Amino acid sequence: MGLARALLLKGSESRWLADQASRRRFVRRATTRFMPGESMDDALGAARSLGARGITSILTLLGENVDDPEAAAAVTDEFLALLARSADSDLDADISVKPTHLGLELGFDVAARNLQALATGATEHGRFVAVDMESTRDCEATLDLYRVLRAEYENVGICLQSYLYRTDADLEELLGHAPMIRLVKGAYKEPANLAYPKKSDVDASYLRHSGTLLEAARDGRARVAFGTHDADMIAEINRRAADMSCPRRSYEFQMLYGIQRDLQVHLAESGYRMRVLISYGAYWFPWYMRRLAERPANVGFVLRSMLRG
Ligand SMILES: Cc1cc2nc3c(=O)[nH]c(=O)nc-3n(C[C@H](O)[C@H](O)[C@H](O)COP(=O)(O)OP(=O)(O)OC[C@H]3O[C@@H](n4cnc5c(N)ncnc54)[C@H](O)[C@@H]3O)c2cc1C
Repeated sequence: MGLARALLLKGSESRWLADQASRRRFVRRATTRFMPGESMDDALGAARSLGARGITSILTLLGENVDDPEAAAAVTDEFLALLARSADSDLDADISVKPTHLGLELGFDVAARNLQALATGATEHGRFVAVDMESTRDCEATLDLYRVLRAEYENVGICLQSYLYRTDADLEELLGHAPMIRLVKGAYKEPANLAYPKKSDVDASYLRHSGTLLEAARDGRARVAFGTHDADMIAEINRRAADMSCPRRSYEFQMLYGIQRDLQVHLAESGYRMRVLISYGAYWFPWYMRRLAERPANVGFVLRSMLRG
């Protein structure tokens, strides 16, 4: 892992830095590259603009590591309101949630109850709930949450991270549950005994997992989304899909708001399913630092915002 990436990921865990950054106007301004704003209206407005270009959305309220039951309940209520508002606005918008935002640290049952409420709400509106994958500390519990939920609901998905050694086995096991899987490379700081430290190994792993998922998508054994901005990887996935007669619309690409905008539009216009994850809320610091770590050159945006005063 590069030094800049390691430092940015370490910084993402600092409460002191989070507090300092949220007081600095230039940092808040720099975040607008990756999020349309802090309010639900900002997120819905962005979803509407993307929809006009044939791009669907996933909406999320930023936050993680909630350790107060009332706060976890309030987060659940906010997501329920979000589902209702996006359905009222006729938007094709799913939601994405982090288990620790819904109270996983308070206990498995707390997170499971809140997730069940969201899956029920999403069912009423014909939407999906995607469960994010956080750090390895919560991986096992997150997979268990997904299994419990999947036994009861059709409209739930899970994220798998290709940088983890364990993902080959997890993917194999999950395919037995007719899952909805979002494949990502992985965004957290993980030790070398759990995750590939070298980017080339992560990319090779991502390609291997995407091959398995494409076969599952073609055979109707899974709903599949590739969460990546990697243009070469996307081209290779599309080449392989064509080779194995996997139809374009049997899988989906997902990207983060504001990243690779031209590629998002190009894929949608070329007939691929393109969904963009739009984040909003006041708790943006750790999430934003992970975005900087993915591409340390992004730190330039923060510096330029600082110089603009
Ligand atoms: C929809 C979605 C959901 C996600 N959910 C999770 C999750 O639940 N758990 C998790 O651990 N991770 C999640 N991630 C993040 C993911 O793990 C990666 O950290 C992130 O996508 C960067 O990897 P990459 O595949 O885009 O390619 P990389 O190999 O990192 O980058 C390839 C190219 O993409 C562009 N790029 C990538 N990131 C950025 C950026 N931040 N800013 C500007 N350009 C960039 C650059 O051109 C770069 O050269 C999610 C990502 C997406 C798109």
